[in-house]
Amino acid sequence: MTAVSRRPTPTVMVGGVPVGAAHPVVVQSMTNTDTADIAATVAQVALLARAGSELVRVTVNNDAAAAAVPGIVAGLGRIGVAVPIVGDFHYNGHLLLTRHPDCAQALAKYRINPGNVGGKRHDEHFRAIIDVALQHDKPVRIGVNWGSLDQALLTSLMDTNAAAMVPRESRDVMLDAMVESAIRSALFAEEIGLAHDRIVLSAKVSNVQDLVDVYRLLAARDDYPLHLGLTEAGMGMKGVVASAAALAILLQEGIGDTIRVSLTPEPDGDRSEEVRVAQQILQSLSLRHFTPQVTSCPGCGRTTSTFFQSMAQEIQRHLLQRMPAWRVDRPGVEELKVAVMGCVVNGPGESKHANIGISLPGTFEEPVAPVFVDGQLVTTLRGDHIVSEFLAILERYVAERYTAGETRDERRETRAPV
Ligand code: SF4
Repeated sequence: MTAVSRRPTPTVMVGGVPVGAAHPVVVQSMTNTDTADIAATVAQVALLARAGSELVRVTVNNDAAAAAVPGIVAGLGRIGVAVPIVGDFHYNGHLLLTRHPDCAQALAKYRINPGNVGGKRHDEHFRAIIDVALQHDKPVRIGVNWGSLDQALLTSLMDTNAAAMVPRESRDVMLDAMVESAIRSALFAEEIGLAHDRIVLSAKVSNVQDLVDVYRLLAARDDYPLHLGLTEAGMGMKGVVASAAALAILLQEGIGDTIRVSLTPEPDGDRSEEVRVAQQILQSLSLRHFTPQVTSCPGCGRTTSTFFQSMAQEIQRHLLQRMPAWRVDRPGVEELKVAVMGCVVNGPGESKHANIGISLPGTFEEPVAPVFVDGQLVTTLRGDHIVSEFLAILERYVAERYTAGETRDERRETRAPV
């Protein structure tokens, strides 16, 4: 599927989902409901899972949240949502996990932030969490965050740097401290007894260049699978673009085994947007395929109407609507490529590179729309029903080309007659 060569890692099983270089990059998300509110959390986890999140993290910040976790997992089971739930712990994870064994058992993984474990009693509290992980046979993500970095470690590295002949920039020392914190914590967890293949690491910052540098450093230090994400990515376009920029660089270098896009949603906005953005990043890099892609040109002075824009939109909408059923009945359809182009300049060429493409007439061009299927001109549409006729061709193509039980290679050999 792709020329990217992933950095070798062991496989960490997270509630049935394999995480590591031998497996597809996993999409994660996190709820923003009060975890103690079982109904609201079940609803949001289901929303995220149905959007395609393969792991969902929930905050476990107090006894009420910990007590709710088994009910959340059971509630999800009742509505047929089997996504593994990851517990996010800060400050009191050692207490909550020991006081609530049902929660410890129901979770598929524990996320620990070493900067928020115990202060002066760090080792004791960290050990308590790892002991629970061992008791319940759960993997752990050691997730360092620059906003809550282990201050004792940072101070010690800063002091050493200040005494050096040629001190380095404090930003570089901070990134080193993040890597040190993650690696030392992982090694400590192994010393306590956690297996090497039960540990995932992350080191999140909110600046793109810092994120790229810290993950390159982390990837070079050991072979633990890495969870990537630009923390506090922000709202709207800023968050999407910054996350895509940072994650694309690392993923292209083979770094990253799971990803999350930490968008700030609009008030009452759709939380599952972060899942779709994460999928789109992976799909744009051809690392994974989730939904058929529509290639459309931006339009220019050669297109005087917005017809081709609305057609592209309508086709995209149709594909998204059909995907839940197609995912079950039409395996492989997520790799389908559709082109909707505005005129003959690039239209036929781009259409030939897609599975199905249509080139609409530009200004002063003959009002006809040639349709290409697997590189061949199959028909020319005209008149007022171009969209519905094109969608009919698309439906027929999908029905004939993607059949259950057929491999991708078999599909390649079978050019569907349309
Ligand atoms: S394909 Fe035609 S309409 Fe679209 S951007 Fe290119 S020249 Fe303009």
